[in-house]
Amino acid sequence: MRREHPYSHAALDTSDMDAGRRRFLVAAAALTAGAATGFGTLLTPQPAAAFRTPARIVIVGAGAAGLSLASRLASALDGASITIVDRREEHYYQPGLTLVATGAWKASRVLDTNSRFIPRDVEWLRDSVVEYDPDNNRIHTATGQTVNYDFLLVASGLQLNFDAIEGMSPELIGSHGIGCVYDTPDHAERTWRAIRAFTETGGVGLFTRAPGAIKCAGAPLKVTMLAEHGLRTAGHRGKAELHYFQPGNALFSQPGIDSFLKQHFPEQRDIAINWEHQLKGLDAARQEATFVTAEGERVVEYDFIHVVPPMSAPVSVRESELAWQEGGFSGWLEVDPHTLQHRRYPNVFGVGDVIGTPIGKTAASVKAQTPVAVANLLSILRDRDPVASYNGYTSCPLITERGKGILVEFDYSLNMTPSFGFIDPYEEQWIPWLMKDRMLHAAYNAMLRGRI
Ligand SMILES: Cc1cc2nc3c(=O)[nH]c(=O)nc-3n(C[C@H](O)[C@H](O)[C@H](O)COP(=O)(O)OP(=O)(O)OC[C@H]3O[C@@H](n4cnc5c(N)ncnc54)[C@H](O)[C@@H]3O)c2cc1C
Repeated sequence: MRREHPYSHAALDTSDMDAGRRRFLVAAAALTAGAATGFGTLLTPQPAAAFRTPARIVIVGAGAAGLSLASRLASALDGASITIVDRREEHYYQPGLTLVATGAWKASRVLDTNSRFIPRDVEWLRDSVVEYDPDNNRIHTATGQTVNYDFLLVASGLQLNFDAIEGMSPELIGSHGIGCVYDTPDHAERTWRAIRAFTETGGVGLFTRAPGAIKCAGAPLKVTMLAEHGLRTAGHRGKAELHYFQPGNALFSQPGIDSFLKQHFPEQRDIAINWEHQLKGLDAARQEATFVTAEGERVVEYDFIHVVPPMSAPVSVRESELAWQEGGFSGWLEVDPHTLQHRRYPNVFGVGDVIGTPIGKTAASVKAQTPVAVANLLSILRDRDPVASYNGYTSCPLITERGKGILVEFDYSLNMTPSFGFIDPYEEQWIPWLMKDRMLHAAYNAMLRGRI
């Protein structure tokens, strides 16, 4: 049996897998091709024949949500003019960034191009939206263009607000013991170098979490546990003191997983949890972090810090009429949480990280949301009510160490919604790791092509 060196980029060798594992792999690979494999509910069938319409449809954002919307609409509609707006040429497989930042994958493995996924009959406007004008059914772009639409699908993701942390900027990632899994693949790889150096030297490691909604809320927890595992595997665990900083008093929104982690972090991993600590600023040169706590400010020295920036809808959405104007979702896109239709502009829909809903900022949510938004748009085109409903499904293989994890799946009710009866949703197992490492990227690409 070959054991992987903790610092190697190579994935786990599966030569030691028993027959059960191999059988699972074969079955799961088949499922991945046709369905979701922990990546959402099983597929919604496409309409048998394309619906003929001259509608002008604009999709903003060519990320996970925008590309899968474009693919589905291109095959569901005949005669429509579909435009996708995004100036980015590169596509990042973001769920893989956790594996890059912890040394399991190289950055090149998460890099792709949008041109590979945009359907031929969809026009790609390489530009970015700077202003939404929903009262006049048009958007304005950075290069000064105005685009009119009959239907608008907002899928512009979210923005990382590094500047909300004093002294922090993305350029610091990879230096002064600073890491961040949320930015570019290059920065994820630099994060891995910082974690690897910390694994050698040991010292004080701080792992933070921003307040408010963030994408893949499991990622900061995974980075913490994988860093701890790296130290342990290298035989250096005794040289390091690890602290997790949580702005509130829960580690995870799903109560069962929250209870698991609250016990697992201190008892099994010797990671101290610092409740109600919000990262306020960094002094990179002195390697000091300042937290706001109920008792006032607290300054902590570190050898490594994992920074999670506060996140918000892109400023063009946040400052538009399309955003929730008040309340807990203020600034995020104001959609009905089930139909994904805008609550005030019925010809506008939203999918993905940009929407203001209680949970669901994951690619797995995008997988569940996209068929709903498309079905409801088709209903409106047919003069019917939008009745398809998103139940809040979200999923995350919560990796606890290399080779192990928990497959967390739940919905708006916060009840677990396991796709596989044979996977205990509260137990660490090898299957979620295998999914994350070997299978979900293919499922994600199939989603971008509208196949699942
Ligand atoms: C570290 C990390 C780990 C993750 N792990 C998982 C996981 O294990 N499982 C999981 O399901 N999900 C995971 N996710 C979350 C998942 O990647 C996102 O939820 C998903 O990508 C959201 O899709 P989206 O289309 O809404 O946003 P994105 O994929 O981010 O795409 C948004 C697009 O909009 C474009 N855009 C932005 N502003 C504008 C504008 N003004 N005009 C035009 N275009 C614009 C951007 O250029 C971008 O291309 C992870 C994410 C990260 C960062």
